[in-house]
Amino acid sequence: MAEYGIYPKKHLGQNFLTDAHVLAKIVAAAEISKDDLVIEIGPGLGVLTAELAKCAANVVAIEIDTKLSEILEQTVAKEFANVRILREDILKADVGGIIAASGFASAKIVANLPYYITAPVIFGLLEQKLPITAMVVMVQKEVADRFLAAAGTKAYGIPTLSLAYYGKAALIANVPPHSFHPRPDVYSAVIKIEINPRRDINSKIFFPLIRAAFANRRKTLANCLSANLNLTKEQAAALIQEAGLPPTIRGEALNFSDFERLSEIMERMI
Ligand code: SAM
Repeated sequence: MAEYGIYPKKHLGQNFLTDAHVLAKIVAAAEISKDDLVIEIGPGLGVLTAELAKCAANVVAIEIDTKLSEILEQTVAKEFANVRILREDILKADVGGIIAASGFASAKIVANLPYYITAPVIFGLLEQKLPITAMVVMVQKEVADRFLAAAGTKAYGIPTLSLAYYGKAALIANVPPHSFHPRPDVYSAVIKIEINPRRDINSKIFFPLIRAAFANRRKTLANCLSANLNLTKEQAAALIQEAGLPPTIRGEALNFSDFERLSEIMERMI
């Protein structure tokens, strides 16, 4: 940064990774081969980009910051012929188009994400059902905890189940603030999401169902469903009974398979 006379922009979530061990863990977790297209979100000064370029066929790195993208053109894109820098906002980028135009059938996402847009980036990509096989991303520790939470715990809820709908998430590494410059105020974690390309459950039923189930954590599932879905108390009770669940159970006690089963039954009921 001193060489280029630049300062980190807090509003763009610019906390640059300075820990080589963490970099190595991210790259290893992505299991990149010479056949892979990797899309990196927010390459920053290119430390991760360079490591990805060594393992992948091609790397497309999407950076919103004009100054950083100019620096990346002069550095990592010059050093590695398989790196392409796109100066774009990831929230507006046509990632499906980028994959198709690169001539690959699928891609992996690898990123030390800007934390102010973690959820819109991850769920935005997942909801588009793009040919993405896996994501290895750095997120806030608190967000990782919610994604990976077990049923019945405080962190468990809509983010956990929403992510489970699209794939299987696992913790790769916990990352302390001193692994970055400047140090963020929060702890971080690297997670890997292996995407399930075929999800048979109807999203139009599953997502309203989980939102209703967690609308009030102190209420029973039956009360939550009748208050927040278009169901009578009797229909909610019948649904829970048919799923083989106790009548007074709360939403937070149910795991992903329970919600999967409830969705299937609801689809038949409608
Ligand atoms: N990958 C680098 C590293 O690990 O050191 C930088 C990671 S830093 C946490 C996040 C990066 O995302 C910054 O370079 C920032 O400019 C970029 N960024 C922020 N918002 C973005 C957006 N909407 N679209 C694309 N890149 C963005």
